[in-house]
Amino acid sequence: MGEAPVEEAPQSGAAKAESAKAESAKSETHEFQAEVSKLLDLMINSLYKDKDIFLRELIANASDACDKLRYAAITEPGLLADDPDLKVTLSVDKEARTLTIQDNGIGMNHEDLVQNLGTIARSGTEAFLKQMKENEDEAAADTNLIGQFGVGFYSSFMVASKVEVFTRRADEDTGWHWESKGRGKFSILRDDSSARGARIILHLRKTEADFLDPLRIRHIISTYSDHIALPIQLLEDDGTAQTLNEGSALWTRPASDITEDQHKEFYRHVAHLPGDPWMTVHMHAEGRFEYTALVYVPDMRPFDLFDPARAHRVRLYVKRVFITEECDGLVPGYLRFMRGIVDCNDLPLNVSRETLQHNPLLAKISSGLVKRILSELEKKAKKEPENYADFWENFGAVLKEGIYEASDSREKLMKLARFRSLTSGEKWISLGDYVAAMAEGQEAIYYLSGSADAGLERSPQLEGFKARGIDVLFMTDPVDQFWLPTAADFDGKAFRSITQGSADLDKFETVKNSSGEDAAAAGDDEKASDSDMDKLIALVKLTLGEEVKDVRTSSRLTESPVCLVADEGDVDMHFERLLRQHQQPVTDQKRVLEINPSHSLTRALAALVSREGASEALEDAAHLLLDQARILEGEALPDPASFSRRLAGLLTKTLSA
Ligand code: ADP
Repeated sequence: MGEAPVEEAPQSGAAKAESAKAESAKSETHEFQAEVSKLLDLMINSLYKDKDIFLRELIANASDACDKLRYAAITEPGLLADDPDLKVTLSVDKEARTLTIQDNGIGMNHEDLVQNLGTIARSGTEAFLKQMKENEDEAAADTNLIGQFGVGFYSSFMVASKVEVFTRRADEDTGWHWESKGRGKFSILRDDSSARGARIILHLRKTEADFLDPLRIRHIISTYSDHIALPIQLLEDDGTAQTLNEGSALWTRPASDITEDQHKEFYRHVAHLPGDPWMTVHMHAEGRFEYTALVYVPDMRPFDLFDPARAHRVRLYVKRVFITEECDGLVPGYLRFMRGIVDCNDLPLNVSRETLQHNPLLAKISSGLVKRILSELEKKAKKEPENYADFWENFGAVLKEGIYEASDSREKLMKLARFRSLTSGEKWISLGDYVAAMAEGQEAIYYLSGSADAGLERSPQLEGFKARGIDVLFMTDPVDQFWLPTAADFDGKAFRSITQGSADLDKFETVKNSSGEDAAAAGDDEKASDSDMDKLIALVKLTLGEEVKDVRTSSRLTESPVCLVADEGDVDMHFERLLRQHQQPVTDQKRVLEINPSHSLTRALAALVSREGASEALEDAAHLLLDQARILEGEALPDPASFSRRLAGLLTKTLSA
């Protein structure tokens, strides 16, 4: 589904007939691609109870095939000529135990058949197989996943012991007959009696004869296929045709007439995702130009969410005619998780996919749509914060791309953004929440970048903030490193990395702990004299030389003796690691080693500075301090052997003292 209609270079009639003749000499047998065979085995042996979905899948295919023909007929009206009313017709033959699904859509030629009904054609099925592989308990996977994904054409083998397809492509005269029992092989035979489109005959297994019952068929259509915009007809015994569905595009119906179930089915149809819509936006814009959008936020991450192409999957229709699913510019990259359709009345029907992108109307539609989606998200965030948190976990990292990409929406996106923080625990807070809870005199929004599973909340740089009751936001998505430098401020408050520059924490009072002591200075009974500490700093700086940019004392630390920070204006340490991980070129950045002057270790070292004969021990200690800071930062040690030697020496001395 969703593929571009086939557009081939025209072949001369004679050449076409020649190649067709060659292909049709006899019935050829083909083997299914290995993955398809596996899928078919699964279908044949399926214990899945709601087998009804096979009909949903076949009707969806028929509807897509009609969409493709309608599109092709815009430039080549002759394609529709002898049979212009597109529809799907169902018929049953009780004696032969067959159910037939016929459409008069685009149809398939020989090559299409081999390609489409012999290999895995679509992302949904691929995703299904991937999920299957990940799920070790295949039996359980079978039952849960088939219905959720719907595995297209192949699901017909859940009910049929043999499937035949008679088909003719709209722009060709040669027809084909495809047949398979689903076990490893299929055959193709030329059959010019095939009408335009596709007629799929399911030879039902004895146990599945229920599907011949018109009541059952009606029920399935009303459950799964009511949103289909074509008439779905059932041929009665007397030869009359009964239309089973409303046959109008779902989005053209008044919002209040659309049931939740209809939305769910339509969502499945356009989204190719298991699960249900998390949010539905149905809008109709009138005025200078007119369009309708029916779009959904999924309740799960699509499998290709982080694909570098960042392609969205919102289909574009013009006056109810499907134009394309790949319409650059209709939905921005940061909303690529959206699924659904946009139907515009003012674009010309013969708009080519190539020039669409530059159509000024498209930009206007896109901006209207984006505005509406963001405002609906804002409402959700306000009304159902817990529910919104689920959305944020799925798509927050994508939405944040918009903060640096879409200056128009930046402010709104920043309001929609949620973060975990030093004090938030499992709760997600907004920038507004953060600013409202800022300490007196606090001018910046403090944040710490890092990866969530690397123990971010135990970073030494947080200690001084914890002690002063100042909250720090955790920036755990790689994308944060991109928007933060461009965001400048929120509500007049600048963003400030706590691993960069000097910490201006001294102006904040520390929180008193239960014994009335300053938390930051707890246990600080015999402070080293300032001059000793200055001497220690000078000595460490001298010893470490080029290894660090600077050495200084810090108010950032309470429990740890040391930490590393980036100097003001240098690249953030987390960002540097991220760049390295992605093999991006980075120049080596020297870091600042910060020392906690209240820590017993640094105090003891400071006391040693003026003692004679201690220089060797102090030098070793300087190196060990730096290595310790590197370890705390999660960095690899440049010289592990020396670290080990120094540590062993120190321990030996301590233990034998
Ligand atoms: P999907 O429809 O999701 O792509 P299927 O396995 O159901 O996956 O179908 C594979 C492909 O076969 C379709 O993408 C389409 O190109 C082709 N196809 C299936 N049914 C029809 C049909 N009724 N008419 C024309 N082409 C069809």
